[in-house]
Amino acid sequence: MSLDLDELGFDPDALREKYRTERDKRLRPEGIGQYIHIDDEFPTMLDDPHVTEPLARDAIDEHLDAVVIGAGFCGLLSGARLRQAGVENLRMIEAAADVGGTWYWNQYPGVQCDIESYIYLSLLEELDYMPRLKYAYGPEIRNHAQNIAHRFDLYDGALFQTWVTHLAWDTDADRWIVSTNRGDRLAARFVVVGNGPLSKPKLPGLRGIEDFGGKMFHTSRWDYEYTGGDTAGGLSKLADKKVGIVGTGATAIQCIPHLGEAAEHLYVFQRTPSSVDVRNNRPTDEEWVASLEPGWQEERIANFSILTSGGMATEDLVSDGWTDIIRKFSGMANKNRDGAIGDMALLAELADFEKMEEIRARVDEFVNDPAIADSLKPWYRQFCKRPCFHDDYLPTFTRDNVTLVDTDGKGVERLTRDAVVVGGEEYEVDCLIFATGFEVGTDYSRRASMEIRGIGGVTLTEHWEDGITTLHGLMTNDFPNLFLMGGMQSGVTPNFTELYNEQSRHVAYIVREGLEQPEQVIEAQPDAVAAWVQTVADTANPHSTFARNCTPGYYNNEGQPGQGPGWFGGNFMGGAQAFFAILRDWRERGDLAGMERR
Ligand code: NDP
Repeated sequence: MSLDLDELGFDPDALREKYRTERDKRLRPEGIGQYIHIDDEFPTMLDDPHVTEPLARDAIDEHLDAVVIGAGFCGLLSGARLRQAGVENLRMIEAAADVGGTWYWNQYPGVQCDIESYIYLSLLEELDYMPRLKYAYGPEIRNHAQNIAHRFDLYDGALFQTWVTHLAWDTDADRWIVSTNRGDRLAARFVVVGNGPLSKPKLPGLRGIEDFGGKMFHTSRWDYEYTGGDTAGGLSKLADKKVGIVGTGATAIQCIPHLGEAAEHLYVFQRTPSSVDVRNNRPTDEEWVASLEPGWQEERIANFSILTSGGMATEDLVSDGWTDIIRKFSGMANKNRDGAIGDMALLAELADFEKMEEIRARVDEFVNDPAIADSLKPWYRQFCKRPCFHDDYLPTFTRDNVTLVDTDGKGVERLTRDAVVVGGEEYEVDCLIFATGFEVGTDYSRRASMEIRGIGGVTLTEHWEDGITTLHGLMTNDFPNLFLMGGMQSGVTPNFTELYNEQSRHVAYIVREGLEQPEQVIEAQPDAVAAWVQTVADTANPHSTFARNCTPGYYNNEGQPGQGPGWFGGNFMGGAQAFFAILRDWRERGDLAGMERR
């Protein structure tokens, strides 16, 4: 069998050229500098809309074995593993009024997880829980987060509506001093920072943004007082409102159908279209549940992570839009059985073209107006941006009360007191919703909204002035007994909770080692850190051409992959399973290699 390029149904050269042209339209010299720091410019936009009762309590002054900052899945899984390791004397600190992290903040209409619930919701077997649907909605995920907190006694002593302002290593006492906005002073042996990789909302630095006089909010702070309704939709108060939404990423895809249904008129301001594949959600099959053997969840999680890291497995257990590209690749490889094409990268590119042709054809299936359909078609490789999955998004653009304002890659031009300006045309809106995502690649302390001082008072910002340096993506020298979770210089999987779960195991192991020995200070050594940074760079380099050729976004540091962490450049790209094996082997050796203990 031979792979005949003429029979592919698309012209690879023409597609390459089209992808290049579309990317070039979007490249901006200011890169991540195009976004403004919301804390400085619009601090009230960060206020918590979900708090029903503001908290009043006395400040706390005490000694603890461990403090976990953040009660999203990073923090909850660390807390759970620490509890399992026998750590009793710990507190969680969380800015929100409850656990859940991203699922606490992001309660926009339609919020749902694109990763299959059976692999995204951790500890299903431990909690004896089975999600109701293949893809869970936000409330069920929040509920699961609460169940984890209850099951591992993490509500005990948890400090909600509290944020850490400073974290400083006290060299004399060998303790982290944790200071909060409520005047708490906690002296902790170990600190885990689980502030999440996508937690600080960002806004584009649009000209005139400070002059806009209408209602304005970010999707991660949805104002139901204003819109009416809840996460299931029913935004009845928008019936007499002209609404604008900026952005068409994974968040926007989910809330736009609800806005389209409810608003008097909806303007969708698009810079780059997302790839929107079939959702195909379905209730959990009871027969399948009955057939599961113990250990099924870990097996399913690993299977997904192998396939989405470009590896091969005999089975595709999840078998959805995330793993489809692998099926396409196998199809191409089968057609190429005679080996006429020896270059695997070319085969992968052809499989990608095939996938994206399908995604573009899907737009035509739902949107009859050829001009609107054309504007909704994405022209880049599938994993240049976060792939999206939805069955109601594309049909929304056939509604009379919905206008797609395609900015042809340029983005919104400016705002006036009551309008959004694109291409010189003013679109009057009562309300403007920013579905513009979260900071990636900016200074860690800025994203965590706290200053961290290690040995000798050096700040983490100073320490990482020339780039992030870690051992295994968790610890760094001069900052002993501190774990920075969430995905810097670690393995990459779209299933974030898998990473957090593996990191949590590592954290719990090191903490237990620390607490069981007389020497309780554990610090990564500079040479081990340098070696890990090199390992990460070696795995990331082969992907640099791919990242550079991609349309800009947070995956490639807004088109400048070499100049900042980004997703591709700043992580271990040798496969998530390979990364987890490195952590596992390191623990099994039992010698804390690359760490000093004193
Ligand atoms: P994204 O960063 O993915 O999207 C931001 C959007 O804002 C993009 O469409 C971007 O356009 C647009 N934008 C930015 N600046 C401008 C401008 N000046 N003018 C017009 N448009 C602009 O944020 P999301 O909140 O959508 O998603 C963030 C991440 O959160 C996802 O990638 C995913 O990892 C996670 N998530 C997961 C979900 C799930 O599992 N279901 C749901 C929602 C989010 P451009 O593309 O051109 O930069």
